[in-house]
Amino acid sequence: MEIEPLEALPEDWERALCIVAHPDDMEFGAAAAVARWTGQGKEVAYCMVTSGEAGIDGLEPGECRRVREAEQIASAEVVGVPVVRFLGFTDGVIEYDVALRAAIAREVRTVKPDIVITGNFRETWGGRNLNQADHIAVGRAVVDGVRDAGNRWIFNDQLTNGLEPWGGVRAVWAFGSPQSTHAVDTTDTFDAGVASLEAHAAYIEGLGWEDFDAREFLEGMARQTGQRLGAAFAAPFEVFPMGWGE
Ligand SMILES: [Zn+2]
Repeated sequence: MEIEPLEALPEDWERALCIVAHPDDMEFGAAAAVARWTGQGKEVAYCMVTSGEAGIDGLEPGECRRVREAEQIASAEVVGVPVVRFLGFTDGVIEYDVALRAAIAREVRTVKPDIVITGNFRETWGGRNLNQADHIAVGRAVVDGVRDAGNRWIFNDQLTNGLEPWGGVRAVWAFGSPQSTHAVDTTDTFDAGVASLEAHAAYIEGLGWEDFDAREFLEGMARQTGQRLGAAFAAPFEVFPMGWGE
């Protein structure tokens, strides 16, 4: 089989905002890349649309929310991310709508990132493995909310107390997309990515996957992607330019 090469993502930026549906989404695809970037002195912030409160079968949502928020904050710390914001949408039933776009636009206007990162929001993970509804709704809303953030007349009611439109986002990057064209070399920060996933101990335990090994799990995709980039390990990303004419 022919190996399709991936291009290295640009690293000439200073601030990224990662917006995903659930605690653990970053860790299943992008934490090692985040560790690389924070190691370069870049600023990265996390924003969770839900608290993943429907994610553990044996734990009711009120208690689960507390556990998963704590695990996410610890997990972020491992890769140099000091701030995790939780938007409080309901886990499992996120809809693509104007309220979600508004909440995302507000985060973008607040953080003022150069790059916004989200998870794969295509129908599948490649092959026949279907993506999850929350991921698809959030990814689509991220792309649109980033555009909204730059327009003074969209969600204009947010522009109080010094909050301004922010049109400085150069691109949205979706990790783990089956249509990835780019990648980040994660060879040197792979261990931090593993530790970041392992911080979701209660969640992983709750999945009930026998003998789940975070390192083994992450190694599979990282090695495959690395081959396409010319590195030992790498993380794949689909790139959505936010300017015109690209
Ligand atoms: Zn998820």
